[in-house]
Amino acid sequence: MYNNFKNYLTDEIKSIKDAGLYKNERIITTPQSATIKVQGDVEVLNFCANNYLGLADSKVLIDAAKKALDEKGYGMSSVRFICGTQDLHKELEKRISDFFGTEDAILYAACFDANGGVFEPLLNEQDAIISDALNHASIIDGVRLCKAQRFRYANADMEDLEKQLIAAKDCRFRLICTDGVFSMDGNVAPVDKIYALAKKYDAMVMVDESHSAGVVGKTGRGTTELYNLKGEVEILTGTLGKAFGGAVGGFTTGKKEIIDMLRQRSRPYLFSNSIPPMIAAAGIAMFDLIDKTNELQDKLHSNTEYFVAKMKAAGFDIKPTESAICAVMLYDAKLSQDFAARLQEEGIYVTGFYYPVVPKGQARIRVQVSAAHEINHLDKCIAAFTKVGKELGILK
Ligand SMILES: *Cc1c(COP(=O)(O)O)cnc(C)c1O
Repeated sequence: MYNNFKNYLTDEIKSIKDAGLYKNERIITTPQSATIKVQGDVEVLNFCANNYLGLADSKVLIDAAKKALDEKGYGMSSVRFICGTQDLHKELEKRISDFFGTEDAILYAACFDANGGVFEPLLNEQDAIISDALNHASIIDGVRLCKAQRFRYANADMEDLEKQLIAAKDCRFRLICTDGVFSMDGNVAPVDKIYALAKKYDAMVMVDESHSAGVVGKTGRGTTELYNLKGEVEILTGTLGKAFGGAVGGFTTGKKEIIDMLRQRSRPYLFSNSIPPMIAAAGIAMFDLIDKTNELQDKLHSNTEYFVAKMKAAGFDIKPTESAICAVMLYDAKLSQDFAARLQEEGIYVTGFYYPVVPKGQARIRVQVSAAHEINHLDKCIAAFTKVGKELGILK
């Protein structure tokens, strides 16, 4: 049996390789930071981490994690409702809902699990889920696990959303769901308009704040801060694995009856282990830090503005962005790979994306700005882009 299966896999993998889509892991030998070392002891500036607030190697978070390791142990060996809830887990949930101005929150091992476990307990075949076409894979999978009827609208297209709301008008409940920031373009979902349409057509809203939490809004409280909708959107999901320290962990936060129901029926919560105490403690320390001062959020915002302005001035074609994601458009797949490879030789670590990760003919290099970057880092990145851009005939 296995021989046949092995041949089948070998052929499949070969076709992935032949299509140029085979993924290799690139190995880093240092902590995650603005400056990292990659294999061969080569130092590069990192512009492709989701380390938006630069907290991935924060001494404050590391110390909080070490303290919890000593005082609260290594692991929980249980799911939350059996014996996997420490005071730390409850406190972190409270800090999450305080931060977003919501009523309650529930932790998961990852946002992938939060999204996987949010739809099925709440909605059934009488209901409708209306989903942005560019939503994250974990939302798509979560929707698949739920019996609700599915409607899809083109990315951030409010006319199309309205059409879908009309098509779903006979359903019992309607839930619109969207990423807060779309990770390939860096555009922010028009949550203000989505919310207005939800009111008009009697629907609820869910926003996945994974790329927007800590980033969007004056104090980084996400799309509901940006659009003045704090506490209004029924469901928010998010991750502790990006701006919020970058380790692991996810959450759903929002209306208290919704969170209560998730605690009763959400399968990744009921049947998967609690996050370790050190992760919960570092999460709490992270909120202490970003609640106390807006320094990191301010630095991220000014870094992003600086970078985007200088890149545009240099002549690059940049997708309109309101996040810390800056898509440098190159359109051609091979060019995006050659460009990224040349940048790495210049000491700039970035990733080129092409079909099927982005639409055909929309290849790009995605730059992610961080509060960990200093102006000289940004200048070095812009200079390298400019040099390689001229070399490869993108810039005159
Ligand atoms: C990264 C991301 C996730 C997954 O988060 P994890 O905590 O790493 O599982 C989910 N949704 C969106 C929109 C993301 O960008």
